[in-house]
Amino acid sequence: MHPKVSSMTAENIALLKEIFNSKSKIVLTVHTNPDGDALGSALALNNILQQLGNDAVVVAPNSFPGFLSWMSGSSEIMIFDQQPKHVKEVIQEADYIFSLDYNAPKRSGNLCDFIAKSPSFKVMIDHHIDPDNEFYNLSFSKLTVSSTAELVYELLESMQLVHMITKEIAESIYVGIMTDTSSYSFSLRNPATFSISAHLISLGVDGEKVHRLVYDTFSENRLRLLGHAINNCMMVMDAYKTAIITLSLRDLNRFNYQIGDTEGLVNYPLSMENINFAILVTERKDQIRLSFRSKGSFSVNDFARNHFEGGGHHNAAGGNDAASLKETVSKLLSLLPQYVHQLDYTYA
Ligand code: MN
Repeated sequence: MHPKVSSMTAENIALLKEIFNSKSKIVLTVHTNPDGDALGSALALNNILQQLGNDAVVVAPNSFPGFLSWMSGSSEIMIFDQQPKHVKEVIQEADYIFSLDYNAPKRSGNLCDFIAKSPSFKVMIDHHIDPDNEFYNLSFSKLTVSSTAELVYELLESMQLVHMITKEIAESIYVGIMTDTSSYSFSLRNPATFSISAHLISLGVDGEKVHRLVYDTFSENRLRLLGHAINNCMMVMDAYKTAIITLSLRDLNRFNYQIGDTEGLVNYPLSMENINFAILVTERKDQIRLSFRSKGSFSVNDFARNHFEGGGHHNAAGGNDAASLKETVSKLLSLLPQYVHQLDYTYA
């Protein structure tokens, strides 16, 4: 009865529109360490769903960086880490649970078990590789869009709800597209990314202001951590066209690390002409977190999936390791030789 089809067929769009008009209890969830795309997508849909008379709420597994807290509706986001009991209740009572910017329940971290146990109807809207379609009752998975926010816009368009996009909603969608393309510098293969952005600007989004609010908000510590990371913590391996930045808890504490402070850091090594693969290894209290970026043909999605229980996109992915920081770096160094040929290309 539930179409487990991962596409924007007329039937699936009609079903989604039915959900939008159902005046139900709807929980919009995002992945752990929610970014601009996850929150922008969730806040945009939350606003539309509320306008349509639903009892909708955004739920995040953990807190989000301060540079996203200006977005309309962000102060009402429920964070599991801060109010677990209340969040559990909300998930238990939901008629519909949306999964935004992630495509498998485990990416929601500490929300995973509660979402899995909930008898609700599950809807996934996402742009990452290899969706877990079996888990969801209705899936909209599209890899060719720049961001989930762009897909959200496309779905609103398909449901003929674009007229409901206010300036605030337009800003949320714009933040999703802007952050996932790193200010329109990659993931730009879909011409609609620009026509959608143009429409958002016409609805009153001030692109310069949004950019400033998201990117020009470094604390002095964050900027100095960036300098420290590049100057003192980066290994460049020309033979593998790879650079690894390693940050220990000590490094992070020294600069009074706040959530979001390492955002974007992994992209810097790729600004070197001959580097195709960039890795950021960060020590967390309970595990090692890895971010991977590449330019061109090397698939960091495969690399993260095969070695670090992660994944994401072809050129941007993440993963985890349970070993120590030192062991994780050794593991990386021992893996690189087998990729020497895959990494040896000139990206232009
Ligand atoms: Mn995204």
